[in-house]
Amino acid sequence: MNATAPQVVPYQVVLLFGPPGSGKGTWGKILNQIPGFYHFSTGEMFRMLDVDSDLGYRIIETMRRGELVPDEITFDLWQKHLHNATLIGRFHPPKDTLVLDGFPRTPRQAEMLNRVAEVKLILKLDCANRDILVERLHRRAILEARLDDANPSVIRRRFTVYDTDTEATLRNFSEGLVEAIDVAVPPVQILSAIGAALARRLA
Ligand code: AMP
Repeated sequence: MNATAPQVVPYQVVLLFGPPGSGKGTWGKILNQIPGFYHFSTGEMFRMLDVDSDLGYRIIETMRRGELVPDEITFDLWQKHLHNATLIGRFHPPKDTLVLDGFPRTPRQAEMLNRVAEVKLILKLDCANRDILVERLHRRAILEARLDDANPSVIRRRFTVYDTDTEATLRNFSEGLVEAIDVAVPPVQILSAIGAALARRLA
C-alpha cells in the first residue's frame, strides 16, 4: 500500500427516496437552504445535459420512456458533478451533509455509493394513495414543461420501476436507517417529520 496516497473521505449522506411526485426535489431544495447541507438530484443532472451531444440525446430518450439510465453512466456523471461542486467550493465534504435525491435507484448504484459514502438516514417519502402523486405530476408537467410527467403511461411505468427497484436497492442498507414520511399531509407536517428525523440521526 502507498502510505502517501490520499485518503478517500467518505461523504456523509442523507438519501431521499420516493416515487415521482412525492416531493423529493422540493424537500431536497428546502434542505439545501440549511447551512451544512448540499442537495444533489441525478434527475436534474440529466435534465441539464446538452441534448445535442450523443450522450445527452441517449439519456433524454431513456428518461422520456420512463426507464433508468445505465448504472455506470449515472455513477460516473454523479461523481464528476460532485467533484466539480467540491472544486468550486459549493460542497465541502465531509463537513457538509450530502442530500441525495433520486440516487441510488438500483442495487448496483447502492453498492457503488456505499464505497464512497456513509449513509446516515434514508427518508422514504410516499403516500398510500398514489392518485395524489399523479395529480401533482400533471400540475408539474404544465408548470415546468417536464415531458416525463406529461404522459400517463410513462408515469405508470415510472411508478412500477420505482416500486421494483426501491425494494431491491434498500436491501443494501440497514433497515434501521429508514424513516417513512407521509407526503399526503400538509407541508408543515411533512417539514416537521423531516426535521425530527434529521435531528435524531444527525445530532
Ligand atoms: P427524477 O427527477 O429523480 O424523477 O428522475 C427523472 C428520470 O431521470 C428518471 O425517470 C430516470 O430516467 C432518470 N434518473 C434519475 N436518477 C437516476 C438514477 N439514479 N439512475 C438512473 N436513472 C436516473
